[in-house]
Amino acid sequence: MSATHANLSPAEANARQRAPVALRCACGRALPLRRNELLCVCGRNLGARQDGLWRIGQPAPYWGEVEEERMADLLSVCRRRNWRSAAKKVLPELAGYLLDARRAAFIEVLPLPPGRRLLEIGAGMGAISAELARDYDVVAMEGVRERAEFLALRAAQDGLERLQVICADWHLIRFAPSQFDGIIMNGVLEWVGLGDRAGSPRAAQLRFLRRAREWLAPDGVIYLAIENRFGLPVLRGSRDHSGLPFTSLLPRWAARLACAFWAPYRSGANRGYRTYTYSYGGYRRLLEQAELKIEQSYVCPLGYNLPVGLMPLHPAALRFQKARRGMARGILWRAARRRLNWVWLYRALGGDFAFVLSAASPASVVALPSGERNDA
Ligand SMILES: [Zn+2]
Repeated sequence: MSATHANLSPAEANARQRAPVALRCACGRALPLRRNELLCVCGRNLGARQDGLWRIGQPAPYWGEVEEERMADLLSVCRRRNWRSAAKKVLPELAGYLLDARRAAFIEVLPLPPGRRLLEIGAGMGAISAELARDYDVVAMEGVRERAEFLALRAAQDGLERLQVICADWHLIRFAPSQFDGIIMNGVLEWVGLGDRAGSPRAAQLRFLRRAREWLAPDGVIYLAIENRFGLPVLRGSRDHSGLPFTSLLPRWAARLACAFWAPYRSGANRGYRTYTYSYGGYRRLLEQAELKIEQSYVCPLGYNLPVGLMPLHPAALRFQKARRGMARGILWRAARRRLNWVWLYRALGGDFAFVLSAASPASVVALPSGERNDA
């Protein structure tokens, strides 16, 4: 990393913590999330805070882990009793997923000391943001109103004072630049093309990544977790984001054709194939084009929704990880040469990747042609 957090003076660190999170108005002014409304002197109204929830612009159409009616049930039970018991009563099959603190276990691999300011984009029902808000100042952004309301109730009932919840569509909201020490994108980038339909899904993903880069503090990091387009689970026929198996393996045009004849999955907006995932090399090219530098990359052995035991995709780091787990030294040394191939194998077939990214200095960015090329 070019600059580390240890280089921040205590005064700088305090100043960053004290300054409230701010949005940027279309006129260019910064509006801090301080009072309960965001009225700019230029006359624009960016949104307001109500029942512990910032509402910025129009929410995204409903989609989520459960059907809309059950979500409405959950919210009404949450308001009458504790969200935990409500989740166990209304969504017993999801209660574990909502309550599991290990959803945020990836924080171990990020160079972010407690007290920093994080943004989670696409926070969903908040398992990650709620856990991280114990040690960090967290802004949780979620486009679907119901899920954002659930998260706001959760924050209020658990007394999570360091968690701010914003209901906003990620491709419409503008934060003032350079405010976040860490930005979390857990299973989000693949969906970006559904909300932002201008041009190709890849172009939308590039816009999204560049925007996140703009919101990142100069020494900040982005954590990006996402599926491998050609990973073993996909090859075995697990459902792609289209709702169909094998669509990520197809050329994009063939995937679009396949999805044109199928009922939309998860969202009325999911017509055609707009949920692009990539190979390891494809992510590297996409991120390079977004002027982001891969500081570290991992395979998630249990999937990115259970990010424990992340395996670094670097020979030396893999060796370290294995040794730490107490594998026999003899076996390690014997496999020393093979391990180089393991990295290749994990990159080729690993199910989910996790990347730690920093803003690349402009000089190190290789110019790539724009458009549909390089999307393997
Ligand atoms: Zn303004």
